[in-house]
Formats: sequence, C-alpha cells, structure tokens
Amino acid sequence: MSELSKEYNFKQVEEKWERSWDSSIYYFDWESKKPQYIIDTPPPYPTGNFHIGNALNWCYIDFAARYKRMRGYNVMFPQGWDCHGLPTEVKVEQLNHITKNQVPREEFRRLCEKLTEEAIDRFHKSMGRLGLSIDWSNEYATMKPEYYVKTQTSFVRMYQKGQIYREDHPVNWCPRCGTAIALAEVEYDSRTSTLNYMHFCAEDGEIEIATSRPELLPACVAVAVHPEDQRYQKYIGKTVNVPLFNYSVPVLADRAVDSSFGSGFVMICTFGDKQDVRWWMEHHLPLRQAIDRGGRMMPIAGPYSGLTVEETKEKITQDLTEQGIIFKQEPLEQNVGLCWRCKTPIEILSEQQWFVRIDAPEIKKMAEEIEWIPPHMRVRLENWADSMEWDWCISRQRIFATPIPAWYCRHCHEALVAEESWLPLDPNLTQPKKKCKCGSSEFIPEQDVLDTWMDSSISALAVAGWPDRTDLRMPTQLRPQGHDIIRTWAFYTILRTGALEGIRPWDAILINGMALGEDGHKMSKSLNNFIRPEEVFESNGADALRQWAAIGGSPGNDIPFQWKEITAASRFQQKLWSIFRFSLPLIAPADAAKGQVDHWLSAELDQLITKTTEAMDRFQFDEALKAIRAFAWDVLADNYIELVKARLYGQDGLEKRAAQDTLFTALETLARLMAPFTPFLSEEIYHTLTGLSVHVQSWPAARGQPMDRAGLAIKEVASTLRRYKAEKGVALNSPLPGIVVYSDLDLETADLAGVANSPVESRTGKPSLEMKPIAVKPQMKVIGPRFRDRSQRIIMALMGMDPADIARQKEAGSIAVDLDGEILELPPEAAEVEIQTLSAGEAVDILKTKEATVLVRR
Ligand SMILES: [Zn+2]
Ligand SMILES: [Zn+2]
Repeated sequence: MSELSKEYNFKQVEEKWERSWDSSIYYFDWESKKPQYIIDTPPPYPTGNFHIGNALNWCYIDFAARYKRMRGYNVMFPQGWDCHGLPTEVKVEQLNHITKNQVPREEFRRLCEKLTEEAIDRFHKSMGRLGLSIDWSNEYATMKPEYYVKTQTSFVRMYQKGQIYREDHPVNWCPRCGTAIALAEVEYDSRTSTLNYMHFCAEDGEIEIATSRPELLPACVAVAVHPEDQRYQKYIGKTVNVPLFNYSVPVLADRAVDSSFGSGFVMICTFGDKQDVRWWMEHHLPLRQAIDRGGRMMPIAGPYSGLTVEETKEKITQDLTEQGIIFKQEPLEQNVGLCWRCKTPIEILSEQQWFVRIDAPEIKKMAEEIEWIPPHMRVRLENWADSMEWDWCISRQRIFATPIPAWYCRHCHEALVAEESWLPLDPNLTQPKKKCKCGSSEFIPEQDVLDTWMDSSISALAVAGWPDRTDLRMPTQLRPQGHDIIRTWAFYTILRTGALEGIRPWDAILINGMALGEDGHKMSKSLNNFIRPEEVFESNGADALRQWAAIGGSPGNDIPFQWKEITAASRFQQKLWSIFRFSLPLIAPADAAKGQVDHWLSAELDQLITKTTEAMDRFQFDEALKAIRAFAWDVLADNYIELVKARLYGQDGLEKRAAQDTLFTALETLARLMAPFTPFLSEEIYHTLTGLSVHVQSWPAARGQPMDRAGLAIKEVASTLRRYKAEKGVALNSPLPGIVVYSDLDLETADLAGVANSPVESRTGKPSLEMKPIAVKPQMKVIGPRFRDRSQRIIMALMGMDPADIARQKEAGSIAVDLDGEILELPPEAAEVEIQTLSAGEAVDILKTKEATVLVRR
C-alpha cells in the first residue's frame, strides 16, 4: 500500500473520484422490488450560474438521497430544468439588442433555447464538482417537446374536466413586460405618493373625494360611502358628476369603505386595485378601461389618450389643480403591487385570459395529508390558500413558454382546444385536425403561452411516469424546496396533482432556508457578500462546502455562509485523515476476542449509529454530522487510539488483533456514516480499506449494544491519570512509580499500563487507607489580626506541636497553645494539618472516578 500524504490533498482526491465514478449506480430502477424513494427535485431556472443557495439546497437533497439509498431504497434523484420564462427572454433581448417582436417567434425561441443550453452546461459542471448523486437517466428540460407534451396534456385534460376555462376577467398586468402575471408574482413595496382631495359636483352641492390615482378619473364608475356615515346619508342612491370628463356615476353604500380615510368618499375605478375589482363585481358596475396593455391611456381618457400612466398622472393633476378641482394635497404611504421581474407597478386590466380553477378547501385538505418539515410551514400554504380571491391566470403574452394548444374559429370565434393525440404542438405552426362546430376550417392560432408554473407544477407527476406509465409512481416521497416558493410551486403542484390524479403529490415536503451572506444579509453582488461555490471548491473543496451545508442549521432556517465553518470542516477532514493515516499500517479485520476497551468502543460506535440514523430520518443533518465529528475527534482519536496504541505497536497476539479489528471497524463504519456528507473523503478511506466503493454499501446497522461499563471506567481512569500528570507538570509519557485501580468491575490493566506508561494493578473492593497527619500549617491570616505582636510566638509554638494532637484538637473545636505557661485558645481555623494518605504503609495520591478509586504511588 502506498504511503499516504501527511496533509489531506482534497483537490487531488476529489478530482480523482469525480473523474472515475460511474454515475449509473445512482439510476432509479423501474423494475426493482425495493421500496421506492422518489424525490421531486426542484428544476432550477437555468440562467446565470449555480450559486451557493443552490448548493445548499442540493446538498440537503443529496444527503437524503444518499442516506435513503444506503438504507435500501430504490432512490430517484432526478434533475429537471425549468427553462421557460421571462428572465431568459429579457436576457436574450439584452444580449442580442432586440425586442421579442423584432424577430420571428421561432427565431426568438431558438435564441432562448441556446442560452438555456449553455446555462445547463454550466450547472452540470458545478453539480458534478459538488459530488451530487443525481440520477441523470431521469433528467428533463421543460422546453423540450418530451416534457411540454406533458404540460399540454395536463392543460387539455383539465380543460376537458372544466378545471381550466377562458374568460374576460381582471388580471394583474405588467405594462413593461406586456403580460398578465399571477397574483403570486406580484410583490408589494411601500411607496410615498400624493393623496389629492377633489370636488365632485353632486345633485345638490359638492362632495369631496380623496384619491392617489387621479389618472384613473376617466375609469371612474361609481363613488362609495359607508352606509352608516351620518355626514353623507343624503347622497346615497343619487349621482355625482366626474370632473373633467363630465359624466355621472352613482353613489353607492358599502361597508368596506373606510370612513376615516380621506373625506370618507371613495372613487371606484376599473381598476385601481383589488378592492375596486371586488366592488365592480358585487355592484355589477360597468367597465371603463382607461389603460391599455402597454401602460398607455386609451381613447376613453380623451385628451390624455396615448400618454403613459405617469405622464397622465402629472398632467391631469396639473389640470385639476388649475381648475380648482384639486383643493388639497398630502403625502400618502402606500403599499404598491410590483411586477416580480422588473419591479414596474402593476395595473389591473380586464382581459380574455385562461384560468385554472382554485379549490382552496381541497388544496388545504391535501396539504394535511403531507408531512411538512418543519411543520409550521404548512400554515404559510393555508394562509395563502385562504387569501385567494381569483383563479390562477395561466396565460402569458410572451414567447418562450409552452404553447397553449388552442385556436379560435375565424367565423364564430369559438375556441378549439387540441385533442391529446395531436400533442405536442404549437398552434402557430399547426392547424387543428378537425373542423369547427360551425363547419369552418379557418382558425386563428392562440398566441398566448402558458405560465411557467404550469410546466413545473407537474414535476412530481412527470418524474413518477405520468402520463404514459401504467404503474404511475404517485405519490412521490419527498419534495425539497425553499420557503420562498410555497405559494407558487408547492401550492400549484398540490393543486394540479389533485386536479389531474386526485392524489397528493408527495408524502413529505422538506422546506430549506436560504443561504445568506456572511453578514447575514441576502447574498448579492452589490453587497459584496457574494460567494461562488467554485471559490470554495478551489480553496477547501466540495466536501468542506457540503459540511457547511449540513452543519449550518436545520432545515427551514436561513443559513449564513461562513468561512469559519468551511475552515472547521477542513480541519475535521485533516483530523480524520491523520487518524486514518496513523491507523492504516496498523489495522486489519481479524477474528479475536475483544478486551473491555474494545467493547467500550464498539458500544460507543453502536450509539453513534443509533443517533445518526435517528437524526437522518428526521432530516436533522446538523445533529448527525455533529455526532460523527464528536465521535471521531473525542471518542476515537483522543481516547480509544491512545488507550490501544501499546497493543497496536506491541507483539502480535490476540490482544493486538482485537485492537486492529476494532479500529478497522470504527474507520470503515465512520466512512459509511459520512458518505452522505463527504462523499469524496469517505470514498477515499473506504476504498483504501476495502477496495470497494462506499456508495454502493449499506448504512451501518445499530445492534443495540449496551454500554460496556468496564471499558468506559478504564477510559475514565485513563483521562483522570492524564489530568493528574498535567497538574503535576509531569510529561504524559513519563512513568509513575505504580498505580493500583480499585473497582468492582474488575478492570483490565493492559491498556491502562500502556497509556500511563506505568505498572498498573487492578483490585476489587475498596482500598484500606491510613490517613496520617504529617505537618502543621499555621494560618497567619487568622492569627495575625487577633494576636498581633504575639503572632510570631504562637506560630513557633504551633510548629513545635504534634500534628496528630492538633488534628484531634481541631476536631474538638479549638486549639490550645502554651506560650511559656500562658494557655491561649485558638480557633480551629488557626492551623491546617497536612494529611498523608498511606496504603500498606506507603504514601499514595488518591484519584476518584465514577466507577473506580485509583491509588498512585508517590
Ligand atoms: Zn414586468
Ligand atoms: Zn366556428
């Protein structure tokens, strides 16, 4: 066997194994009889690079996948790519200096695909370097026809069941991106705007109305007041005139009006916000849409037609002020809805869009069947479900997405949705294979595309073999994901799996936190707290980064990246390597009766297995790794190896072989326990020991071995002796004159003699000891203050007395001293008596441990 380097060369070891591993050992076996463990891995957006947050999440998944595989499960750790979406389109527009409408749709799509493929390549590299045990036979990309045929099939089936419909309905709209967005994609931020007080002419007199959006005046369809607002009773049911645009609207009474806001009157427009939509629907108000898809004013806005919303706001405010209609302004703190992608304030427009019906109670019921880790995360989903007022708008006015497989009849305008057997298709490139109900065969293709969550919300179904396999593997076992996408990915997946198959998507959902910068803030290049995984691969290696992920905290919590954890991880790897390097020439599996110390180590190892297994089952990776580190560092290196060194270096014999075998087993077991966390180092150790890969081995099984009390007692005696030597300033390997250990456990002496480098005798029962007073120590601090100038004489007298006599007097309560005939009574604290312990007439020091009394000859 070749000599191992003193320093652990993480780079060489990790790169070697990355090159030589056969990834097919991680493939899911569809024919296997083992219990399945399918992980519904997040398909990341392949834009940019694999970042530290991805690394954290994928480490969690890999820990779980590797552990379950070792526990005998048929594991699927698939990898998908959620390709479609706005970020890629925006990037293609920037890189090629074009907008989506300047090139043919197909060409634009091709540019998006190319950019995505490049990003996927970068992700592959980082994931490989991180040592992830991904099942590449189950890779999918949502932009490929093999995948989007599934998305389209799900659309068609849900449409046929009435779970998808098309309707004119208010939707959240980003004027910059030119597309509808779902409620889950609206972000809220507080902004300061201006509250304008205006006069509206009523049938008798004037009313005051306060609004922050005067540009919506042409969209005003009513004004409302609280039914119990005593000031305005007379206006209810009458009409008022909208200034500048000069048309009348009704005055409504509605309990949702806040009388304390502004004047107590509120303007209802189509649409300023969601409350406007509620009122519009409840009171069956007409639609006056004033803003178009590009965020410009429509003809209904008269002179402002064609201006942007911002321009209109400025100009109309000026006009209203000049005409004296605005008579007061004050600043207003407001929560404004923004597009998640470009942060442009959203508008609410009424549009023909496709919607997925949301059945909130059904989703909540299904969420209850799923185990949430940590459990409180389920509340977030339930709160979100309860807040849903509109169905999910799934159509987008973009290009790089799954096409909606539908057309519209040119004559009767009826929508025709494709049949399943026609899929996959792009309606812009294919015509329907049948005629319209009206007999026409002229169609206009649907140009809208699907929300990307329509792709990713069937990820669980897709990896489980939907829709082709007759043995659909639903539910899958685990969904790992971030808490930031509970209201989107988790919510939509539960909705869609329920709608399509009437089943929960997973048995359990594991919510991971976000990786933060070292300063505790979100990692970002502008904050200068941004770390790339590659930096850590270079400086400390993948295993160290993986250990940080495991130890940084428990699932659900945000975890700051910390170089000190990376350093601690490297130090642990070096420690383990040093143990391994020391042991390797000395160890071998053997069949030899074990001593008490060997039994103790086996029991400690057995307890470690129990502890880590239990922690891994609960996904508490930090607990598992901490237990492993404590064992390796403290139990194995500091205690066991020190105790058995003499045997390992000694002459061949059963005792030596027992130690060789015990240490071999400990290292081999440690390598397996660490395989999920540090796959590279574990492989290096395990492969060197056995010639086999640790990644096809089973997880160590605990045998419920009871603690070996005798071995534990020996370990404690050894540490007590080590402390004793340190206190006495004696070198650890220098011999002591003799040690006698008394214990009812009948302790073995060989290892103690070795570790103390001294003769050791073991006896049962209690030692018979004699306590002999041998010297008097007068206490000046007691005597001085009381006897002043006589102190010196008192001390001399005490020193001259028999120590045994003084000990007896102290016991009785006072010490009598004869000062030339004068008898002084001293308090017992005036003198201490030094006692020597004797055993069979010899002076000894006594050390106590829980199970033993140790006599050390002086
Ligand atoms: Zn936008
Ligand atoms: Zn028709």
